Amino acid sequence: MNNFRVFATCDIGEALDVLRKRGYQVEVYPDPKAPPKSLVLEKVRSGVDGLITTLRDQIDAELFEAGKGTLKVVAQLAVGFDNINRADANRYKILFTNTADVLTEATAEFAFFMLGLLARKMWPAEHLTRENKWGFWHPYLPFLGDEVTGKTIAIIGTGRIGLAMIKKCAGFDMNILCYDPAYQNHEYIKAIQETMDLRHARGIQKEETWIKYVAFEEALGQADFVSVHVPLLREGETNTPTFHLFNEQTLRMMKQSALLVNTSRGPVIDENALAKALRENWIAGAALDVYEKEPLPPESPLRDPAIEDRCRLLPHFASAAKITRLSPDPNKGMAGRCVQGVIDVLEGNYSGDVKKMPYVVNKEAF
Ligand code: NAD
Repeated sequence: MNNFRVFATCDIGEALDVLRKRGYQVEVYPDPKAPPKSLVLEKVRSGVDGLITTLRDQIDAELFEAGKGTLKVVAQLAVGFDNINRADANRYKILFTNTADVLTEATAEFAFFMLGLLARKMWPAEHLTRENKWGFWHPYLPFLGDEVTGKTIAIIGTGRIGLAMIKKCAGFDMNILCYDPAYQNHEYIKAIQETMDLRHARGIQKEETWIKYVAFEEALGQADFVSVHVPLLREGETNTPTFHLFNEQTLRMMKQSALLVNTSRGPVIDENALAKALRENWIAGAALDVYEKEPLPPESPLRDPAIEDRCRLLPHFASAAKITRLSPDPNKGMAGRCVQGVIDVLEGNYSGDVKKMPYVVNKEAF
């Protein structure tokens, strides 16, 4: 039996029993809100071997210093890890893991549903019903939405979730513009074009559709919808930063009729610029799942009632499906994958070869 100690900054459900059954001492912060950093530091200083974190926890040099000599792994319950300072982790040679892949389809389908919600104006439409303002059926009153079928969507970032979103959009007979300066999967794009052509040839879709990689300006300028699937990367962390990728200048590149969907990270969009773009009708609408500051502050300009009809606000919910979040199976759930990341590192799976451990992110430090 093992006697490793693990502290989880929030409850990740029955997956923790996998650790307990292996003899681990597992302590869980019981409050649904994030623990104060001072408490996490205290736990780390007390000598835990593993720390289970979420995007709410700031993991940086101060924490790695507190865990010097004892902390071996930080296992993040998310694919995004912009709350973890990678350079600091590497300096202290502490591994961290993420939960890529198991949330890919859930996040992509949620982005697609957000697009549908926005394009077909489902939220204001339900309000009509609930508030007894649905006085009559009429061909165009009080408003109409836009069909997504046959329209053009720009996918910004063609990594795991971007490619899954492409697959879903192709199923809705959409044309697809792809933009990614760092990774282009031409084989996948070719296969999608082949399925589009086959569907058209066999009479499954009436119109021909297409998919291609283009420059950022072209993607924004030609798309009816724009969906964002990039990691949050700041200046100095990469050659292709995404912080405020959507700002006054780039929002103005979009069509006036275009809709923007963001399930990536909040700071990828300058929210003041977006609120202005919506107020002044530079673009027609936005659906957001993530924000510059979470939870969304009461004073956020995105809450302006003047833009309420065209601004959908979801509470960082794209991966929030039962199996996706909580399954203890590492091939199905974020919790299972998170716990397996801890086990791989602490128990030295793969003959202790970090490079072979599938969920370790900062392999370059070893
Ligand atoms: P990924 O690493 O597989 O894909 C990201 C892609 O973005 C990569 O192909 C990369 O080359 C590209 N990219 C980097 N810089 C870019 C730039 N400047 N412009 C355009 N593309 C750029 O990651 P993934 O698994 O697809 O996840 C993407 C992000 O989605 C995560 O980092 C996370 O922040 C976010 N996410 C959010 C939720 C949610 O609940 N809302 C759930 C899952 C993931």
